[in-house]
Amino acid sequence: MNILIMGPAGSGKGTMSDYIVKEFNIPHISTGDMLRENVKNQTPLGIQAKVLMDQGKLVPDDVVNAMVKERLLQDDCKNGFLMDGFPRTLNQAQALEEICATIGKPIDKVINLEVDFDALATRITGRRVCKNCKATYHITFNKPIVEGICDICGSPLVQRSDDTIEQLKVRLQEHEKNTKPALEFYGAKGLVQDIDASAPMETVWASIKSALGK
Ligand code: AMP
Repeated sequence: MNILIMGPAGSGKGTMSDYIVKEFNIPHISTGDMLRENVKNQTPLGIQAKVLMDQGKLVPDDVVNAMVKERLLQDDCKNGFLMDGFPRTLNQAQALEEICATIGKPIDKVINLEVDFDALATRITGRRVCKNCKATYHITFNKPIVEGICDICGSPLVQRSDDTIEQLKVRLQEHEKNTKPALEFYGAKGLVQDIDASAPMETVWASIKSALGK
């Protein structure tokens, strides 16, 4: 299955992506993770992207479109993929449409996670991420066994530099202005399944599974 997961920052895209890729045995393609990897390795792309990411702004379409195209051509995508955080603009959705047509892998379903602002704010400011394996925790809702340490690999947990209220507001404005048109693009094709993502994790996962026909 070729799946997109969309939703504002803090809506649980990362967590639900982990469930989906396990269930369907497909690769998880997160443009945010790919960009952060570039930032960490201080590539020219990463240096350019960091300034925008730290402000909660979008990285230019041509940069992410090229990154995604290269990734989708890799062998592990041949039985499907889960795309997380892309497309975020109408231009990106159109570019993805072209890429998918070229490689013969049309999008089957778009999962759209919906959550209100207060819940997003609580999730975002309490989110902690493993520096090494990228596992995600929350200081209240999903604590690691040892505070500040990843259960999986033992590395330190950190707060993402864009996980603040100020940045959240900018990211939500970006979402409203740029990502809504992308969502409407898929809505017109009848591919979007809206999911109430303010419910507990297990409930959200059950809704997604059923939306994906499992
Ligand atoms: P995420 O981890 O998906 O929340 O992405 C973190 C940040 O990376 C975003 O706030 C953007 O600055 C950048 N980013 C990730 N995906 C995209 C995309 N598809 N288009 C533009 N910028 C992106």
